[in-house]
This record gives sequence, structure tokens and C-alpha cells, in this order.
Amino acid sequence: MSRHPLQLERFSIGVGDRFSHQAKAQLSACILAFEQGVEVVPVWNKSNREHTIIGSGPNETRAAADEAVKSLHWMRPYFCDADHINLSTVDRFLHACDFYTIDVADSIGKLAEPDAIEAFIQRHPELTGAIQIEGIETALHLDEPSLRAITSKYLAAVMAAAEIYKKIAHHKGIGNFVAEVSMDETDAPQTPVELLVILAAIADAKIPIQTIAPKFTGRFNKGVDYEGDVAKFREEFSHDVAAIAHAVKHYGLPENLKLSVHSGSDKFSIYRVIHEIVSETKAGVHLKTAGTTWLEELIGLAEAGGDGLELAKEIYAQAYDHREELCAPYASVIAIQVDKLPAPSAVDAWNSEQFTSALRHDPKNSAYNSSLRQLLHVGFKIAAKMGPRYLDLLKANETIIAKNVTENLYKRHIAPVFLGKFA
Ligand SMILES: [Zn+2]
Repeated sequence: MSRHPLQLERFSIGVGDRFSHQAKAQLSACILAFEQGVEVVPVWNKSNREHTIIGSGPNETRAAADEAVKSLHWMRPYFCDADHINLSTVDRFLHACDFYTIDVADSIGKLAEPDAIEAFIQRHPELTGAIQIEGIETALHLDEPSLRAITSKYLAAVMAAAEIYKKIAHHKGIGNFVAEVSMDETDAPQTPVELLVILAAIADAKIPIQTIAPKFTGRFNKGVDYEGDVAKFREEFSHDVAAIAHAVKHYGLPENLKLSVHSGSDKFSIYRVIHEIVSETKAGVHLKTAGTTWLEELIGLAEAGGDGLELAKEIYAQAYDHREELCAPYASVIAIQVDKLPAPSAVDAWNSEQFTSALRHDPKNSAYNSSLRQLLHVGFKIAAKMGPRYLDLLKANETIIAKNVTENLYKRHIAPVFLGKFA
């Protein structure tokens, strides 16, 4: 089957596998969905930061994905995502990946050439005045100063994306990879009208993006639920979907262009909204989850008891002692209440059930502790330092871990978002 240009399917899920041992268990969740009649394509994502902390490389992610696909006979597409790359980090991903999340958040607000800004405004008279968009009840309004302000804010970022895209295309060949532009790791969310202007600029720059990741309203902390106004998110998400369809039609972007939700995993309160809007509009969506699979490894180890539980406790104790340095790189995407963290001496006395209840994201369980969960989420560095001691226990407890990994991905993420099945 020839796949050129390489096209991302309507539904896809980004999965993270920090230690490259759970690709099969993750793929099993997609297989469960497929058996229910819904194709959700897996995309294994790993950022340069994660690779650096773990001491791994993109080739390992690729090898684990290939091996899982082969051994489980997955006949549908799958991808390896160079997650949040920029011009200086993309190189090591050029061989192994076929999906590139081009992160230009750092260029937002940098001033583009005044001539380029003026040229964009001249080229797009349709972006001033009333903009009628199918799916948005009242017309959007932009006057020229507002359009100039938005263009000034985002044009340099789009230019940066074009430069990175060209570098990848030069190495891989046009049509041989999926391109996403991400702007989520920044302070302020982009409004639907800003998204429309950004998409027009991306089309002008001839970047055939298939996904775009704006920053949405509300907080998307890693591994815990959404914090924000769900009704506001609903309106924004639905307007973003409409803006994308409009941009595809008017600016010639790829037909399959869709939103990429960098969810940070576990955004249970907005999964219903996403499912409903995507179903109503027949839009696609890419749901990117964070590396919470590693937490399922810990849950599996704790559930196994014995050496597994001991190791899980040891990791917690070390993470607790090093919490400041572990949290620092993730400060903007976690919200730990230090006084909610149990003392390691208390955790030391826990049995399997106590440990897994605190860590597993089951909002109905009163023992669930979101601060402990977030601390362990960023604590993968501790396990990485343990090296073979950790990895050997993963192998020894493969079955119980795999069960947790698959169930977490399927029941808590894929089933609600893509199948509309809510627990
Ligand atoms: Zn992101």
C-alpha cells in the first residue's frame, strides 16, 4: 500500500512511552477501539527533553513501535512523533520520525519584518470586517488595527515554523511526513479568530499542516483533570473546529487538517465536549496524551507487591526528596500542593491497595491524591537513574503492568473521546 502523501487519519491518539516497554500494551488499546468499529491511529510521541532526561533516542521509540505493530499484526497506520521540536533539536529526529510537532511558541510575540506584516494584511482583505464562518452563529469581526496586532503577534512564529518545515522536507522529502504546528506551550490561549489568521499565514507559507495545536482556555496540568470553564472550552473548541474547516476551504490547507489537543492526559471533564463536537461536525481530532503510561508502570509494580511495591515506594521517597528540582522544568504544567504530599515514612507503611488508590486517577476514589500523582509523573528521572533495576522489574511484571496501561488508555481516554463511552 503506497502512502504518499502521508496522511493522518481522522482520529489519532498521541501516546508517550518513556521507557519504551509499553508500546504493545498501548497499541492493544487502539486494537480494542478498532474491534468496536472505530479506527484510532496510534502516534508515539516523545520530546527531546524526555529523551535527554531518560538517555534514550528516537530510534528506540521507532523500534518499539515497529515491534509492537509487527507482533500484534496491526495493519493500520501508525506514526512516530518528534514532539515539540524546533530548529535546533529536530536533527536527531529526522531519520526515525514521520510526524513532526513543530513548536513555535517561543516565537510568538517576536516581531516579523514590518513589510511582511503589511504584505499579509494587503493579501487578506477578507480578514477585515465581518467574517462569516459556517458553524459560528454570529460573524467574527476584525478591524484593521486588530488584524495588524494579531499578525504582528504571530507572523514571526509562522515564519519560524516554515523554516523548520523546510528543513524536515529537505531531509525527508515532501509528503513523507505529517506536520503539526504547536503553539500550546505559551501563556495566553489563542482565540478562534487568531487561529484563523494563523492558518491563513501558514497556508501562505506553504506548510501543509495536518494538525494544529493551539493553547486552549483553562489549565492542562500533566496527568490530572482539566481546570477551567467547561462551557467556555466548549464554545472555543467548536469555534476552532469551524475556523479550521473555513481555512481548509478558503486557503487550500490539507482536507484532513484537524485540531491537536495537547491534553497532558486525563482531561476527563472535557472529553465529552470533544466527543460531541467532533461527532456533530464530522471533524477529526488528535488527542495527545502525556507520559502517564509510566504511572501505569508504577501502579502495576505496586499492584504486584513484593519487590515491585518496594521499588514504587523508593521512587516516591526519592521524588519527594528531590521534588523541587524535578518540578522546576514542568512548573507551568503542574500544580502540586506540597502539604498534600504524604511523608515517605507514611507511604512506606502502605500496602499495594493504598499505593495504587492514591496514584490511580479514579476521581471517585477518596484516596486518590492528585499531588502525589503529579509528583510521580515528573519523577520518571528517578526511575531512569535506576536503570536496569527498574527495567528488569518492568519485564518481570509485564502482564500486570500491561493490563493497567491498556485499560488506562482505552477506558479513560479512547472510549470517551472517540467512542463516546463514559464510565
Ligand atoms: Zn504540547
